[in-house]
Amino acid sequence: MDEFELIRRYFKTLTPPRRDVRLGIGDDAALLKLPPGHELAVTTDTLVAGRHFAEDAAPEGIGWKSLAVNLSDLAAMGAEPRWFTLALTVRLADPLWLQGFAAGLRASADAAQVTLVGGDTTQGPLSITITAMGVVPAGRAIRRSGAKPGDAICVTGTLGDAALALELGEQAPVTLKQRLHRPMPRLKAGRALCGIARAAIDLSDGLAGDLDHILAASGVGADIHIPRLPASMDFATLVPPESRLKLQVAGGDDYELCFCLPPAQLKDVRRKLGVPVTEIGRISKTKGLRFLDASGKTVTVAPHGYRHFV
Ligand code: ADP
Ligand code: MG
Repeated sequence: MDEFELIRRYFKTLTPPRRDVRLGIGDDAALLKLPPGHELAVTTDTLVAGRHFAEDAAPEGIGWKSLAVNLSDLAAMGAEPRWFTLALTVRLADPLWLQGFAAGLRASADAAQVTLVGGDTTQGPLSITITAMGVVPAGRAIRRSGAKPGDAICVTGTLGDAALALELGEQAPVTLKQRLHRPMPRLKAGRALCGIARAAIDLSDGLAGDLDHILAASGVGADIHIPRLPASMDFATLVPPESRLKLQVAGGDDYELCFCLPPAQLKDVRRKLGVPVTEIGRISKTKGLRFLDASGKTVTVAPHGYRHFV
């Protein structure tokens, strides 16, 4: 099976055609129609074998996650995802692997109603780069830079499940494994936050590191109340209180949204979002990120967030 046969077999019909795709896979570039009054939101993420996933990991999971992490970035901007491209590097054209990968990718694409419009296929060490594109009403995208002192800091869902699954490995309960291998990008919540949240980010590297990006971009600080960090039932059952903080603020792969908004908007947002929302702290004009325990004492959190090239 050569490159073109591979594309035809596994990717050409991966997702149903969309009316806003004037030209998809097969030419030198795709042609996409942007609705009037909208801007294009573009994001890209690479997953490398041995770095982001094990080389022998289930291909379905790799397919799902490589798109889902990109969709999560669009969610954080408040964008509606529409299209994506796939740059795939594989050592060999293994039909079993490709079939599984394409199935996982298709499931993730179908769930978000996005369609594959092009890509590149090369031979080499396993690596997947996806570029996802979405649309957002002009001027309305949620940036990292809008947080104001006094804003409530909120997160969707629960924190630490994926990090716990990674730590437990094969022993992890299925629900936690799902959180690690099948993250559900918070697309509806992100769109609902458009025009309401003053800043947002998706949590891929752990709350501490990711929230820091909002603080830096907005020129503010934050106080986070540790006892308020939302945990799933599994997490609360399996992790003793003294071990929770590290997993919840420095573990990665949560793919929840963290956003800031005036506290008066909270009630409305809880109703609109359709996912659990927890207020975990407040934005402060005093720079820095502080984690406070139940007695209000500041707890030091070890350096956070995964960084390449350190
Ligand atoms: P070019 O040589 O012009 O870069 P390619 O031969 O790489 O074109 O690709 C041929 C067509 O197949 C292009 O439309 C490209 O977007 C598409 N394509 C290549 N690889 C993939 C892939 N992994 N998934 C989806 N489309 C792909
Ligand atoms: Mg090419």
